[in-house]
Amino acid sequence: MDLEKYDVVIVGGGPIGCITGESIKNHNVLIVEEHQSIGVPLQCAGLISKKGVEELGNPKGCVNKIRGAYIHAKNTTVNIGNEEIRAYVFERKVMDKDIAIRASKRVDFLLKTYGRIKIEENKYKLILNHMGEEFEISPKVIIGADGAKSTIGKSVGLVNNKNREILSSCQFEMVNVNVDDDFVHVFIDKDYSKEFFIWIIPMGKDRVRVGLCDKGNCYKKLLDFINNHPTAKEILKNATITEFSVGTLPIGYSKTVKNNVLLVGDAAGQVKPLTGGGLYYGAKCAKICGKIVDEYLSNDYDLNYLKNYEKLWKKEIGREIDRGLKIRKIFLKMSNNQIDKLLNFIKNSGLVEYINEYGDMDKPSDVVRYVFENYFKGFLKFR
Ligand SMILES: Cc1cc2nc3c(=O)[nH]c(=O)nc-3n(C[C@H](O)[C@H](O)[C@H](O)COP(=O)(O)OP(=O)(O)OC[C@H]3O[C@@H](n4cnc5c(N)ncnc54)[C@H](O)[C@@H]3O)c2cc1C
Repeated sequence: MDLEKYDVVIVGGGPIGCITGESIKNHNVLIVEEHQSIGVPLQCAGLISKKGVEELGNPKGCVNKIRGAYIHAKNTTVNIGNEEIRAYVFERKVMDKDIAIRASKRVDFLLKTYGRIKIEENKYKLILNHMGEEFEISPKVIIGADGAKSTIGKSVGLVNNKNREILSSCQFEMVNVNVDDDFVHVFIDKDYSKEFFIWIIPMGKDRVRVGLCDKGNCYKKLLDFINNHPTAKEILKNATITEFSVGTLPIGYSKTVKNNVLLVGDAAGQVKPLTGGGLYYGAKCAKICGKIVDEYLSNDYDLNYLKNYEKLWKKEIGREIDRGLKIRKIFLKMSNNQIDKLLNFIKNSGLVEYINEYGDMDKPSDVVRYVFENYFKGFLKFR
């Protein structure tokens, strides 16, 4: 194997690693993936906005279309949405594989390969472990697209526990359910999830994904929810689990460039703090990352040129993430009672129409900010 021929090595063959790879148009790129197949194990609810689907390059794998949501607090439910299709549900295994096949026109893949950083004389190199054999290589650029726990990010000192909150998740795919396929259910109920929320996402054909994200043991919390929440009991009363997955969600970001190492996607914390969605932001940033790396290599620029990636991606989505982080701080302090009052306020003050008109799942902070500012009557000010 001639691994030194690659100018760029991307660690992580998830969708964002692949889109980064295909965006580096003029250089040799290798993607290494520790698993034996692209797209597994699943760690995603697969709900993607229209804009997100476009940004991902209209991949295969769509299984359902969504018109809106039931937002449930402890004692109040608000129904948002109308006739308009607002989001799509994807089979991530199919989607990820399709994106990888597309990327393979431009990049090479090496599966069953674990990548880790080696530091030598202030330079970052890579050790690749492929089927028990180790290879040391020195690509000009190393990209960590290695997900929420990014070992690449940690080993170069970009990611640590202070600049990133990590939440756990547990999700089941269940069949034989009793659900309206057009609407997702979101449960904001601190009795089940103190720091995030629970979802039921219809996949069509009597299938749903039901998942919970929080700190601690999410498996037990999800079982508690399925067995005890009245709406969940109704939807899932005859249901059987056909798939089980656990995952991690990064909340917050840090610096994403150090010497010849860049981070992208979940590894970079390019995730919406209010919903955990990372595919749209990740795909956007992957293209910026690929373009900057391409320019850096084509023009033999100084290493500092790579820092433009960070400037550009923050310009695109940094403000939205910052706002999301602020709103999350408020959410963490709210009790079930206060969340109920807020939802009642939305229901009774014409805000549902406002949300239907202006709601954007890729920029949720605009609408949440508007709702909060109305609710708190101007006491809260956001940037
Ligand atoms: C429960 C849950 C639900 C979610 N739901 C949604 C949703 O509905 N919509 C949405 O937009 N987003 C959602 N997300 C977020 C979304 O899944 C991520 O943002 C997206 O997968 C990020 O893609 P990525 O390529 O950056 O990372 P990943 O998809 O995590 O891919 C990283 C890849 O790197 C590989 N890897 C890691 N370390 C190494 C190593 N050292 N060497 C080699 N390979 C390595 C891994 O095996 C993996 O294949 C959800 C996340 C969770 C946890």
